[in-house]
Amino acid sequence: MIRLFLSFMFTFLFCLSPLFSESKENRNFAKNIIEDITVFSLIESAFEHPKDLFLYPGSAKVLASYLAKPNSTKSTVTFFLAITPDFKILFDTGSDPNVLLKRLNEIQINPDQINFVCITHMHPDHIGGLINAKGTAVFTNAEIFIPKREADFNSNNKIFEIYGDAIKIFDTNEEIIKRVKPIPAYGHTSGQTMYKMTTKGKSVLFWGDILHAPVQFSKPDIYTHYDNNPKETVAIRKDILEQVSKDKTIIAGVHIAYPALGTVSKTKDGYKFMPLAAGK
Ligand SMILES: [Zn+2]
Repeated sequence: MIRLFLSFMFTFLFCLSPLFSESKENRNFAKNIIEDITVFSLIESAFEHPKDLFLYPGSAKVLASYLAKPNSTKSTVTFFLAITPDFKILFDTGSDPNVLLKRLNEIQINPDQINFVCITHMHPDHIGGLINAKGTAVFTNAEIFIPKREADFNSNNKIFEIYGDAIKIFDTNEEIIKRVKPIPAYGHTSGQTMYKMTTKGKSVLFWGDILHAPVQFSKPDIYTHYDNNPKETVAIRKDILEQVSKDKTIIAGVHIAYPALGTVSKTKDGYKFMPLAAGK
């Protein structure tokens, strides 16, 4: 009898499971329209960072108390596609060309349609989507923008050979593409650079790895084992958080939880991320 009951329950649950998965919200991408720019957050993966990734120069007890807060280490690997009336531009590429192609396909974009790819820094979770499994370029019509300091530090990377003249190394704070300005944010890596895109008085800041988890909004002094220069990393993070909390620039962060796009508000002792409502 018990066996019959279990087999019935199993069949019942098994038949019902497609309904559950269908009703589950699609978290592979989020679409937001900001004036005349459509920004897609394309989510490669969502996960929790291990707590021992995080470091704090002050007391271990304080660090533990921040890490104990719910969702404090929630993260993603996300890359962004901005579509303007004139061009399509990708900010970072994630780590996996197959996921990148899958996500682009889900929003009916062919990689050949991408005009520009802007790289914040050359860690594998930001440039991994540039080269496919066959060792050839994923983007055949795009110019790939890389900050000079990143290019110098990673000059042996095979992307330089594979993309050749399509790589545009820049060393400027002036507009590199219409309405797109690079802003240096050294610290996490020696040349990490953010990109600010402006449209009709609104701005979106594609900030790369200014932080890796919500705990660093609450306590910006917390850094990670990934950070090349912790002191610079924390200083620039504090500057940027203060600035975007004042001017309400929309931020797009590679390691921010879904939808990875939103604004920042100041709290009593730190900052808070306010996600943008993601329309589909
Ligand atoms: Zn990263």
